[in-house]
Parts: sequence; C-alpha cells; structure tokens
Amino acid sequence: MDTHNTSELRREDSRHHLHPFTDTKELNEKGCRIITKADGIYIYDADGHKILDAMAGLWCVNIGYGRQELVDAAAGQMQELPYYNNFFKTAHPPAIKLAKKLTELAPDHINHVFFTGSGSESNDTVVRMVRRYWQLQGKPEKTVIIGRQNGYHGSTVAGASLGGMAPMHQQGGPMLPDIEHIAQPYWFGEGREMDPQEFGLLAASSLEKKIQQLGVERVAAFIAEPVQGAGGVIIPPASYWPEIQRICDQHGILLIADEVICGFGRLGRWFGSQHFDIKPDLMPIAKGLSSGYLPIGGVLVGDRVADLLIDEGGEFYHGFTYSGHPSCAAVALRNIELLEQERVLEHVRDIAAPYFARRWAELASHPLVGEARSLGLLGALELVADKVTLSRFEPGIGGLCRDICFETGIVMRSVGETMVVSPPLVITEEEIDQLISLARASLDATARRLGIAL
Ligand code: PMP
Repeated sequence: MDTHNTSELRREDSRHHLHPFTDTKELNEKGCRIITKADGIYIYDADGHKILDAMAGLWCVNIGYGRQELVDAAAGQMQELPYYNNFFKTAHPPAIKLAKKLTELAPDHINHVFFTGSGSESNDTVVRMVRRYWQLQGKPEKTVIIGRQNGYHGSTVAGASLGGMAPMHQQGGPMLPDIEHIAQPYWFGEGREMDPQEFGLLAASSLEKKIQQLGVERVAAFIAEPVQGAGGVIIPPASYWPEIQRICDQHGILLIADEVICGFGRLGRWFGSQHFDIKPDLMPIAKGLSSGYLPIGGVLVGDRVADLLIDEGGEFYHGFTYSGHPSCAAVALRNIELLEQERVLEHVRDIAAPYFARRWAELASHPLVGEARSLGLLGALELVADKVTLSRFEPGIGGLCRDICFETGIVMRSVGETMVVSPPLVITEEEIDQLISLARASLDATARRLGIAL
C-alpha cells in the first residue's frame, strides 16, 4: 500500500471510526496501525512491518491466517445459499451439519446447540435460557446468576453484567439485576501468601458463601471461564474447579463454562472444561469455532436444560437473524475439519504446549518479570517493579510494554501490568522460539525505557 493511501486511511479512521475498547482522543493523536494482510502466525501492517501475532487476533485465529480452504468454504456456500434463517420451521445443511458435529465433539451429556453471532450474544442467550429453565422447573424466583470479579463474558448489557470488569460496570450505568460476583482464583495477584491449592479452595468457597448469603432458592447458576482470558490469563490452582463442581452439584445450581476462549483446542482439548474435568450444563462458544474467519457463536446445551426446554417449554422467544448463518456455519464446519485432519489438538497437547511452557518459563528470569505462567497455548507474564518483593509498577507500564512489543514485531496484550499471549494453535517450535526472543527483546526495551538495569 502506498504511503499516501496509508496516511489518508489513517486520517479517515480518526475522522469517522469509533474503535472498540479505545480512548479515541488518545488514538487520534498518533493515528492507528493499519493491518493489511496476514499469513500463518504473522500479520503485516500498511507501513511494511511483519509482526508475529502472539494473540491470534483476539484469541480466535486458532487455525492461523491465510487458509484457502476456509475461503473456499465461504465462497462455495455464498454461491449456493449465502443467507437463510432457521426461524419458522426452516433450517439449512450447514447449520444442521455444524450442530451435529459440535455435539459429537462435546461431552456425552451435551446434545444440542443454539447458534448466535458472537460470544456476547452467546452469553445473552445463556441468561435467557437459565431463567427460562428455572421458570419451567416451577422455581421462577431462582434468577440470580453468580459470576466472578474480573471475569469477562462480553460487552452487551448481559455480557458486561455477567462479567466482573469494574470499569465496564461503572460506565454502563445500572447493569442487569440479579447478577452477583465472587472472588477470582488469582493466586499471584491475591493469594501469594498462601499455598496455591489452599488458595484455590478458598476462592471456590466464596461461591458457597455467596449461595448461603443469597439463599439457594434464589440462585440459578454460576458462570466462569475455565481459564480467565481477558482478566489476565488467570489459571486456577488444580484444587479450584473440582470444588466449584462439587458446590454446584450439591446446591443443584447450573454450571456454565464460558468456552469462548478455551474452546477449540486452546488447552489441547476441544473444550477447556474437559481439561479441568468438569461437567457444565451450558457452554457458550465463539472465536475459535470459526478461527475468527467469519463471526459465529453458540451455546452448547446439556440434556438437563435442553430436555426441559424442548419437552415443556413451548416456543422459546429468543433468536438472532444470524443464528446459524449458513456461510459462517460452513466456515466453522470446515475449520473444525481442518483442526481434526491436521491433528492440531494433538499438536497443541504433545508438542506446542509443552515446548511453549518450557520456553515461556525461562522469561521468569527477566528483571521485569515476577511470574511467568502458562497452560496450553495461553501465557501470562506478571510485570513487577521489584523482583524480590514482587511489588507492582504504577499503572501504565503494561500499556507501554504492549506498544513496545508492536515496535519490536510482536503482538502481546496488556491487562493492567500483566502481559498475555494466546498464539495460533498451529505455531511450530521454531516459531515459539521466535515468539520468546521477541517477547524478551520487548521486555528488555521496556526495562531500558524505564531506566532499569539489565
Ligand atoms: N466470553 C469470553 C470468555 C470472551 O473472552 C469474550 C471475548 N473476548 C466474550 C465472551 C465475548 O465475545 P465477543 O467479543 O465475540 O462478543
């Protein structure tokens, strides 16, 4: 792309485009980076830089960029039937085939899917379904859904309400009623003085306390991400999930695992809940379902909920124009076929994740890093001002490091003073070496910028 064109585009962007999760005034001072193409694990900007995308877009390009098979799947379906809906007693082959495929991949007790256009819509659907379920059970007063502080479930009103992102709540005015939040299992941030497994049990016990405080007759469900993504790749101690499952079972409340990030291979299994061996009643999905090539999401619905909705629910007054969109569904189906044919989950489990874990852990020796943790192909680095006391930096250093990463040639995301990565699942060992070198170079440059000796 010629420079004239690029600066013109940048100007038009600042004039007309309101970016998601962005301080527009600050952005417009410099203008945005314009991404023009991508291939494998790399993106390219209009100024000619090649950048290793260690975030797979927004945690979604699991199969990597540039897959012609997905282009062909979209083009073929668009020629055949670009759009039709699944309302009013109709359906089409891509939605039916994708529903069958997804329920084959899901645990045995999950045999239905409700399609949506995104992760946020999936979580809106979760709220509607959970409340309808308890109505049909004859317990309409069970309306409270418990989420977690610093959890992320999307940016629609229901998604933001379920999530525990304080700044979103503050800007959004009153959130949905009857949503409560409990502590997160963030050992480095909130429990370092304790043994991790004890801390995991303590964090899980806040669910039981909350249920007791509200009265179980009011509580409908608990929702959580198997590993919190947007909150900073918070990997719960091994003791956490079994205890959460026990509490949900004991009190009969629905368990919802938000699989929008962990689904489709991120932890080396189809779903993160399989990694943690939990049995959710509902699993919202999106992102890796189509590797981000086209927007599609859904909710995988366990038999406990589906059977009641179907047998006794009558019409469910819920759905979206693009629920099960044929072109998106065709791409999702092809994406899943590719993940299977190329044994991408096995690659994650047996090769990429173990190698990544070993190399990522080496970054813990860096003067800026207080902890380097990973699970599957998710990684986080805790930036600290003092490696001995592990005291944190002033806010802003994470953002500085993220900007330096871009300059260095790698996309890492900052969540406060935590740097996170979630690379495409097809990443090779050689590319992991590159990722680590670029991450280290970015940390070095950040330290130099801060005047910290290396
Ligand atoms: N749930 C989780 C766990 C997510 O990470 C996200 C997106 N980052 C969402 C829901 C919302 O998905 P979307 O942005 O597609 O609406």
